[in-house]
Amino acid sequence: MIFGWGRKDDDYDDDEDEDEDEDDREYVLFQGALNGETPDLAANARLVQAGLLPAKQLVTEALERRAEMIRIEPKGKVAQVAFYIDGVPYPASRLPGQMAMAITQMLKLLCGLDPRERSKPQSGGANVEFTENKYVLKVDSAPVAGGAERLIIRAQDQKKVLEKPDDVGFSEELKAKIREFTSQKNGLLLAAGPPNSGVTTVSIAMARSVDAYMYSIYSLADLGDRDLAHVTSMKKNEGDTLSQTITRAKRKEADVCYVEPLLTAELAKESLEGSKECALIGEFPAKDAADAIARFCQLVGDPKAVAAQLRLVCSQKLVRVLCTKCKQAYRPNPKLLAKVGLPPETKVLYRPPRYDEEDEEDEDEEERRVCRRCGGLGYHGRTGMLEFIEVTEPIRKAIAQGANANQLRELARNEKMQSFQSEGLRLVVDGNTSLEELQRVFRSKD
Ligand SMILES: [Zn+2]
Repeated sequence: MIFGWGRKDDDYDDDEDEDEDEDDREYVLFQGALNGETPDLAANARLVQAGLLPAKQLVTEALERRAEMIRIEPKGKVAQVAFYIDGVPYPASRLPGQMAMAITQMLKLLCGLDPRERSKPQSGGANVEFTENKYVLKVDSAPVAGGAERLIIRAQDQKKVLEKPDDVGFSEELKAKIREFTSQKNGLLLAAGPPNSGVTTVSIAMARSVDAYMYSIYSLADLGDRDLAHVTSMKKNEGDTLSQTITRAKRKEADVCYVEPLLTAELAKESLEGSKECALIGEFPAKDAADAIARFCQLVGDPKAVAAQLRLVCSQKLVRVLCTKCKQAYRPNPKLLAKVGLPPETKVLYRPPRYDEEDEEDEDEEERRVCRRCGGLGYHGRTGMLEFIEVTEPIRKAIAQGANANQLRELARNEKMQSFQSEGLRLVVDGNTSLEELQRVFRSKD
């Protein structure tokens, strides 16, 4: 069902004399709640009156600015709105509490939730369209002190679901390693990352790197609405363990299995056992590849078993890409180059433009105008930095002896494996990102 709110010929606008210039703007169109509920507008006429237009304005502005998340946080009599753009929060506006409440309840209604229920957390979503792009909006509401609610709205651009190895930034070397290890039809390959960081995207890209014409791949995980090309999906039988499901897939001649996230000791142990029968690919929560190995050993409690079965761990961090329209070249000073480990012959690096108040006088009007492409943020979009640790002989020995994450990181560096550090600096030298951005990413807890 298409509501088509915000259009000139729209039913709901007929009885209202909206501002003329508001009519000229293109607003986001809500195309139905994800749970199939049809919002009861008649029963919520007052809410619609107070909240529909501001809710649409807010979501429209967020999508115009490419925000992937909006947060409405009540603070006393007002609410602070923040837009998250490429993973970084920017304060958007401060709303009177009443207005924030109307927007929150309206969005809940549009996303198939009960606006009257304010004492319990609720989650829902809606399909929307804006400037001919389709998005899925997901909302999470949670009560806060004083009877108000916090609302988090996530917008996923349906065009930007990147899951192919090349989209994610897998190098030829990495793809070759994945093919090599999975061709042995045993061993465990992990994608490591904090939950919701894109780790699932990496694990799926790993599964997609397997040669699907040569090997039979089974997915034993619930992938929601994601689609894994050339992969047979096998549902877990009620009450079955991961081991039993792997055995069942093996009987159907599975060579490679994509398994559910290995979140518990039980699952981690079973994955080691199962990886003797066929190659397994799964995700594991950790901050980088070395951290994943150390934590996995801890969880399983048997480093020797991990050393015997683990083949490869990949991890990804997202870093913002400098806006190609407004990035500024500068000559880095030699001390800085030495400090961050860049070659001394590096002549030029890039950073976001500085809109300096002081030297306004010298610059002409044209130059001071905020860049339209990035809205003055200096960055536009993100790219993945990938690192991986291959379990080579020295690393296998170190794992078996219970090496910690730092020791493993050091060893991987000695073996010149692709690391966040090396990949990040390559992006800086190529002018794709800035040193400041790299520092921000390394500082963040994810
Ligand atoms: Zn720009």
